[in-house]
Amino acid sequence: MKNIRNFCIIAHIDHGKSTLADRMLDITATVTEREKQDQLLDNMDLERERGITIKSHAIQMNHNYNGEAYKFNLIDTPGHVDFSYEVSRSIAACEGALLIVDATQGIQAQTISNLYLALEHDLEIIPILNKIDLPSSNPEEIGDQIIDLIGCTREDILLASAKTGEGVAEILDAIVERIPAPEGDPEAPLQALIFDSVFNSYRGIEAIFRVKNGVIKKGQRVKFMNTGKEYDADEIGTLKLVKDPQKQISAGDVGYIISGIKEAKEVKVGDTITSKESPATTAIAGFEEVKPMVYAGIYPVDTDEFEELRTSLEKLQLNDASLTFEAETSAALGFGFRCGFLGMLHMEIIQERLEREFNMTVITTVPNVSYYAYTKKDPDERLIVNNPSDYPDPAILERIEEPYIKAQVITKSEFVGAVMTLCIEKRGEIVGQTYLTSERVELTFDMPLAEIVFDFYDRLKTISKGYASFDYHPVGYRASNLVKVDILLNAEPVDALSALIHKSKAEDIGRKMCVKLKELIPRQQFLIAIQAAIGAKIISRETLSALRKDVTAKCYGGDISRKRKLLEKQKAGKKRMRQLGNVEVPQQAFLAVLKLN
Ligand code: GDP
Ligand code: MG
Repeated sequence: MKNIRNFCIIAHIDHGKSTLADRMLDITATVTEREKQDQLLDNMDLERERGITIKSHAIQMNHNYNGEAYKFNLIDTPGHVDFSYEVSRSIAACEGALLIVDATQGIQAQTISNLYLALEHDLEIIPILNKIDLPSSNPEEIGDQIIDLIGCTREDILLASAKTGEGVAEILDAIVERIPAPEGDPEAPLQALIFDSVFNSYRGIEAIFRVKNGVIKKGQRVKFMNTGKEYDADEIGTLKLVKDPQKQISAGDVGYIISGIKEAKEVKVGDTITSKESPATTAIAGFEEVKPMVYAGIYPVDTDEFEELRTSLEKLQLNDASLTFEAETSAALGFGFRCGFLGMLHMEIIQERLEREFNMTVITTVPNVSYYAYTKKDPDERLIVNNPSDYPDPAILERIEEPYIKAQVITKSEFVGAVMTLCIEKRGEIVGQTYLTSERVELTFDMPLAEIVFDFYDRLKTISKGYASFDYHPVGYRASNLVKVDILLNAEPVDALSALIHKSKAEDIGRKMCVKLKELIPRQQFLIAIQAAIGAKIISRETLSALRKDVTAKCYGGDISRKRKLLEKQKAGKKRMRQLGNVEVPQQAFLAVLKLN
């Protein structure tokens, strides 16, 4: 145990986490030339394209220090707010963290909130200023930020370039010198913390764990304490670039277990593995069931593809347990699914995977958060509203509660005013303002999660000219005053366009939605009335005039193939159109409410 070091990397996106990890794998010769490939840790295509690490993985490397061999377990953490629970479990598996800050950029909100998580778990922090090869790097000033933030000295801060490799050897040595060896009792009953899982279509789910106490042995009967399920440890091993099967893994070390588990749902991040024969009395603290934060309807564009969509979602869920779904019907869209996501990024990822991996064309409806409703009939009974259609009739509604978050924005001091204005507009309440340096300010505020769903990121980016970073954590439910805004097309209500909106904004948003829909719905052969209503009261109306010209008319008598091409082009354009009554509505219209200005 004394020669093991377990650590993670805390960094903002693009600050160099993957590049540094690659360089460390190089220097420790974990990766042979043949295996070499940029950014090894990001191995899903989508992750690679987006340049973000969606799921955490772990990798082991060896490092010699003063003639002694050390074993490093680098635990990769997801880099986005949607996955903060997973980050907390990865951190709980480590004794130390490399805090990487881009020396040309400075500290961002996401970094700070993960840093706080690491400090809560008493991790030893090794601060690193990366990208010092760039002329625009400013290690002096950004070093000051780090000193203020974690209370270290200037000498504690390592300077590096993950790109050129400068300073990386020093980082490896610092890991040995500064990060404590794991503690734990190999003689005690087995307790291993699951911090990640990986889907393998041939072998089932691999759970990745850190042994806190005891020893896990191949072939042993194990029990997952929170789910209560039992398995045989068919294979256990350590994670090099390829899996390296072992007979046993002891306290302090990191490894994987394969035990014939078919569904990701059975492996819950944060669960504790113990032995069936002599179980531990308690599970490792900090386990939580991950709950979806955002819901949206997903409908096949082609109504015949409903069953295919179900199969695709089932397959996606096999390797992404945080995706939930259940069948629902919409008067407008027919049969589809109400899906639950960890956040907006997660929603985008699922939608993209459905299209790329399963070749589905889908319509996604306006996302909403999950509300609690209480009716006059039984004010103690909590109804969970995950779909505006399930919103109780206002006449019988006792009260409604919505989820709140604590949000953190870091920006330049010149943008503080604009950010505050945005937060207030978003029903936020400023609870803190801290100057990190004379130039950079951290603002904290409480605000409804629903406001994040509605174009918050884009607005924040615009008003700060890109110089603002953002992070949030859920802080429970609060009473609210919401109304349901319905949209009618030619007097027909379109349930898939309904949204729950705070009363103070409902009229304004209803009006803007009509304007936006007028922009998005193509003109058709007849006039279309677009109306917004609250209950029976129409609050706004726009009129889309009829189209006169027949688009094919101008090639009449002309080249027939040109005409066919035009028709095909039209058809392709229609791919994402849904017929609602007699009106054709494009996909973007269903998300119109997210794009209001
Ligand atoms: P991650 O999002 O934190 O994993 O960041 P990446 O490792 O993907 O790096 C983001 C970008 O910064 C990539 O284009 C890297 O090539 C570049 N980069 C990373 N480290 C350095 C460095 O030390 N110097 C320079 N000049 N570029 C770097
Ligand atoms: Mg990366």
